[in-house]
Amino acid sequence: MNPVFAKLPTTIFEDMSARARANGAINLGQGFPDTDGPEDVRQAAADAVLTGWNQYPPMRGLPELRAAIGDHYAAHQRLSADPETDILVTSGATEALAASILGLVSPGDEVIIVQPAYDAYAPLVRQAGGVPRFVSTRPPGWKLRAEDLETAVSDATRFLILNSPHNPTATMLDAADLALLADFCVSHDLIAICDEVWEHLIFDGAEHKPLITMPGMGDRTVKIGSAGKIFSLTGWKVGWAIAPEPLAAATAKTHQFLTFTTPPNLQSAVAYGLGKDMSYFTDMRAGYQASRDRLATALRDGGYAVLSSAATYFLLIDLPASGIDLDDRAFALRLVEEFGVASIPVSALYEIDAVATAIRLCFAKDDATLDAAANRLIEARKALA
Ligand code: PMP
Ligand code: GLN
Repeated sequence: MNPVFAKLPTTIFEDMSARARANGAINLGQGFPDTDGPEDVRQAAADAVLTGWNQYPPMRGLPELRAAIGDHYAAHQRLSADPETDILVTSGATEALAASILGLVSPGDEVIIVQPAYDAYAPLVRQAGGVPRFVSTRPPGWKLRAEDLETAVSDATRFLILNSPHNPTATMLDAADLALLADFCVSHDLIAICDEVWEHLIFDGAEHKPLITMPGMGDRTVKIGSAGKIFSLTGWKVGWAIAPEPLAAATAKTHQFLTFTTPPNLQSAVAYGLGKDMSYFTDMRAGYQASRDRLATALRDGGYAVLSSAATYFLLIDLPASGIDLDDRAFALRLVEEFGVASIPVSALYEIDAVATAIRLCFAKDDATLDAAANRLIEARKALA
């Protein structure tokens, strides 16, 4: 068996969803909305299954989807990418991560990963023969510090994997962070692999600026996105990578032997969806923001210390500041087994020096579910604080 993967536990997301099912709990663990995304996008997929193309599409993605991705980012993020050479459609962002990491990282390359980190990054780096170098961030602000980046970098460092907006901390890089990171990548000649799947799930009027648009970054960045997040259809697994031609070509070479293609009917529906009016995107954000505020207010009223959430489907609870003297995993297990709410203990997303004082809750649920979950969480705090 391949030790890189075989030695790993089942992911925390799958683990917690299984515990939610076993305990009949409300599942605020794994991040998925309980309402499917826009009906017109789903209708476009259904139409494409019945009347469209159901055989292998082009390896790099349907031309109409690659063009739609290019137009979408030009309109939303002032990014220009050539659909012919710079855009690759993949089976979810997960495959874009796999194809770019396996396609670009060579044995011995060091790769900086910011903790807490989405769980796919380090195993993929190791499978490529690379060596993860972890930089940690800590609550409450989870700020990346220049000195930590400088300590992690060496002559062997070739890549930096970034995730903004960030899962699980619900933070976003600001203009100063982007300037720091661009300068860091340029001065150490690093390639940035930017996981931006949460780019549209941003609140309070924020704007997402991709690192690839910063000075010096256009020829050294792979930007990764996912339709699952943009359209509240997480099971669709349609993603993409945008990168300058040599990086996109190496990623496409790997994609050929991972999945080769992605279902054409879903691609065609995503092409339609990416062209939706600005109002779809602003309304979607407003809806999730209202859910965030509903859950945060109920939990704060019930005595919880809730960290601020700028983006994603998630908010974090600070356990010690809420008067709870259990580590995150112990609390999450008691919460799901005794009080019927599944969450994600943030320490599961660290490999070293874990912060074990916060749990992540997904607020992409209807009001009644959020209210019921908040009541159960408040009961748990009364019993455990
Ligand atoms: N990266 C991050 C940071 C994520 O949160 C997720 C899933 N929520 C993914 C990648 C995977 O995206 P996809 O489902 O499109 O593979
Ligand atoms: N990205 C989702 C989350 O953070 C989970 C994806 C998965 O289950 N692997 O909850």
